[in-house]
Amino acid sequence: MEIKVRYAPSPTGLQHIGGVRTALFNYLFARSAGGKFILRLEDTDRTRFDEGFVKNLYDTFQWLGLPWDEGPDVGGPCGPYVQSERFQVYARYAQDLVSAGKGYYCFCSAERLEALRQAREGSSEVGYDRRCRDLSPAEAADRVAAGETHTIRLKIPLGETTRFTDQLLGDIIWKNEDINPDPVLLKSDGFPTYHLANVIDDHLMGISHVLRAQEWLPSTPLHVIMYRSFGWEPPVFCHLPMVMGQDGKKLSKRHGATSIDEFRKQGYLPEALLNYVALLGASYQEGQDLYTLQELSEFFRLEKLNKSPAVFDYKKLAWYNEQYIRRKSDAELAELALPYAVSAGLFSGQKPGAEHLRAFQDAMPLIRERVSFLPEIPGKIQYLFSEPAIPSAAEFIPKKADLPKTIELLTLGRGFIETLAGMADSEGENFIKAQAEQAGVKLGDLMMPLRVALTGSRISPPLFGSIRILGAKRSLDRIDRALATLGNS
Ligand code: GLU
Repeated sequence: MEIKVRYAPSPTGLQHIGGVRTALFNYLFARSAGGKFILRLEDTDRTRFDEGFVKNLYDTFQWLGLPWDEGPDVGGPCGPYVQSERFQVYARYAQDLVSAGKGYYCFCSAERLEALRQAREGSSEVGYDRRCRDLSPAEAADRVAAGETHTIRLKIPLGETTRFTDQLLGDIIWKNEDINPDPVLLKSDGFPTYHLANVIDDHLMGISHVLRAQEWLPSTPLHVIMYRSFGWEPPVFCHLPMVMGQDGKKLSKRHGATSIDEFRKQGYLPEALLNYVALLGASYQEGQDLYTLQELSEFFRLEKLNKSPAVFDYKKLAWYNEQYIRRKSDAELAELALPYAVSAGLFSGQKPGAEHLRAFQDAMPLIRERVSFLPEIPGKIQYLFSEPAIPSAAEFIPKKADLPKTIELLTLGRGFIETLAGMADSEGENFIKAQAEQAGVKLGDLMMPLRVALTGSRISPPLFGSIRILGAKRSLDRIDRALATLGNS
């Protein structure tokens, strides 16, 4: 059997974690099985459609680096891949169902259906009362020919059960009487409902496996009946475990970011997001946390999906982000962080010049291990690009020292700046240790006033790297300003 799967979003909202998880699992399954992954736009709900959501869909998957083999933008043998461009197809198949006695015309007005709904409120009976189900086909055809407004409904076989085997959940059996009675397939304006378009397209596009969120499980018995009514073999269904917040409720805005746009703005890397999302309800290799997309594609198995809901853990995702930040080269990380630095005003509102860019890139090793998210980067290295405010004298003074001693230590440290500026970090460290020993002072006591003078703070990224990037002249200037302040205190 040729493996073919699809991601079939309705462009009625931004792409979020749940949708991306569905798309990713479909992608991985296709890749693991040498099959095809297609994108189909289910834009039948024109009232909630927004072109912006289509753009968001493309942007999101481009950013994530998750391509499809067939789709509206790349084409393919089963197009068009946009449902609004396929309306005649659905109308034709709906007519076929009527001709075969598996569907029927319904002439009930919206008012009648509303009155029915109200009358049944609170009772166990729900949905349509099947009034038009037993009209004679000849009468119904006459009324249609006379131009009477109508829909097409599915004729659900009564007194039967519908069963299918979900790849993950096992055998699912529904009494047909428990399924929404004879749902509309084709609306009075000729538009298909989700069920009609979805089933026809999955069949015509040769979809072998439907991997979708568990919220669609209640629709599946209906879909199976539709496949049978058309005389088609249903695909294999596999309903993916829910994604929950840590409180056990369905993941939503209340828990934090859910749209990929938000994660992107908050400085998550696409690799981190993909890696983490891939673990929401699936397992791969024992003892391995980090996976490339290539590895995930190799190891993905439907048999390794979990039945129980996946819990979305923002802390775990942050950990993944840290790991991927640490794996970036200086140049890569600088490029990713640059937009955040520009908008944070790191270069004083100017377009960064070559010198700025070089210093920015050189600063990456100083903070790579100290940030979880890209937007944290500019704040951590601000002091390299603009003069930090000189803190109060108290900030400079090491424990058990006083002001004159601090001035002495800073003056001593000043003497090593020229040498340190030309040294690699490890060399600098050995050098300054030896100097502290020789002078009979504690290393920490020698470093503290220097650190405060150069970075404006007692806590900062590595000092020797900072001196190297600042250069001897700027470092000495900062120390002199600090000494002047201390002298006047
Ligand atoms: N258009 C549906 C959605 O937005 C597709 C459901 C399915 O995969 O069948 O999720």
